[in-house]
Amino acid sequence: LPVVAIVGRPNVGKSTLFNRLVGKKLALVDDRPGVTRDRREGDATLLGVEFRVIDTAGFEDDDPDTLPGRMRRQTEAAVETADVALFLIDARAGVMPLDEEIARWLRGGNTPVVVLANKAEGRAGESGVLESFGLGFGDPVPFSAEHGEGLADLFTALLPYVDRDEEDFEEEIEEDEEGRPTGPLKLAIVGRPNAGKSTLVNRMLGEERMITGPEAGITRDSIAIDWEWTDKDGNVRPVRLIDTAGMRKRARVQDKLEKLSVADALHAVDFAEVVVLLLDATLGLEAQDLRIADKVLQEGRALIIALNKWDVADNPPALFQGIRTALDEGLAQVKGLPLLTVSAVTGRGIDQLIEAAFETREAWSKRISTGQLNRWFEKAIEKNPPPAPGGRRIKLRYLTQAKTRPPGFILFGTRVDELPESYRRYLVNGIRRDLGFGAVPVRLTMRAPKN
Ligand code: GDP
Repeated sequence: LPVVAIVGRPNVGKSTLFNRLVGKKLALVDDRPGVTRDRREGDATLLGVEFRVIDTAGFEDDDPDTLPGRMRRQTEAAVETADVALFLIDARAGVMPLDEEIARWLRGGNTPVVVLANKAEGRAGESGVLESFGLGFGDPVPFSAEHGEGLADLFTALLPYVDRDEEDFEEEIEEDEEGRPTGPLKLAIVGRPNAGKSTLVNRMLGEERMITGPEAGITRDSIAIDWEWTDKDGNVRPVRLIDTAGMRKRARVQDKLEKLSVADALHAVDFAEVVVLLLDATLGLEAQDLRIADKVLQEGRALIIALNKWDVADNPPALFQGIRTALDEGLAQVKGLPLLTVSAVTGRGIDQLIEAAFETREAWSKRISTGQLNRWFEKAIEKNPPPAPGGRRIKLRYLTQAKTRPPGFILFGTRVDELPESYRRYLVNGIRRDLGFGAVPVRLTMRAPKN
């Protein structure tokens, strides 16, 4: 089982929290001589996810203002072996010197830390919650161990560390204070042969930087080109263009390359955050384009459609509208994908395309607070209550964002397996439309808590 270690200075509520999480299953597992109190461990189940909890209160001695060596060594050992440390603060008392001391040694270790601002029932302890931001472990979770308030937020904060299924979601990415990604935008341009991919890439990079060969190989079939793009405000922003073999080859045997381009597209997609599907506007949207788009979305990548050769487009407004409609009908699961027009030859629209790619990546990487999410969720289910198959209403409890890139949500409730697809789609579309996720693929999984 994944292990959660509860740490914090005396009297912040560690044992109350432990008892609340472990309940009756409380177990005394270590009563070696020399340990002041018993080391307390127990198994907890929070909304269907099981983990082991260690309460380091057992290591404390009676003097509340010191961290004696023995307690410290045992606490350290517990924290080092844990998957996550749950660092308790007394929100009413605020951040005390001893809290800061504990924070310092936690920062020195490798165990991820979630700050839990306890005793924050009702509106109490708001300033303490704010103060605990300053400890440097990200957003504190307001909580009341005594009243059991904040369990949903605690669950959301712990989920990445305790749910083995979600483990592969953990990925190091560079971001600014607001959580926006700052690393190079990993962009792939895919599309059928002759859509104008090579022309576009060369235009983006500037004529003097023609693609010559796979110097910076990621794999045999894909290369990455790092370059810098200057936005309209003059900010220089790094871009990593994922180039595929298909971009460098020329169409000879049309049929063979048609196949190759789909495989290439998928290969590039593996390395990309945002994928631009480039279409030859004069040819319109074809089944193969929809297949590529669908695969990109299935892979969870953010997708932008760009209509190339707009310089030679006939009746542009009608053409645009026709493709817009075909796209929304062909990809019903994600209506309203960004649709832009460009000319790789004249350069028109390319800056807007790159700008849109950065914006789309932001939405794709966005994290929304459980509070905001559930305020939205309550209204959404009030406006359109879930159905009642067999006369019994499906009860939906709450929603949590379990991951980003792409955004993934978990919906908790009873009999969620009976929820019709149309209702699931209602929620997904609402999340996209109302919470700023735009047209990025949003995943929603259902879970029925066991307890
Ligand atoms: P790729 O197979 O997708 O890499 O396509 P290419 O970049 O080789 O372009 C195919 C053809 O379309 C070439 O003859 C290009 O000159 C032409 N082309 C590409 N972009 C544009 C554009 O924006 N406008 C026009 N008029 N022609 C373009």
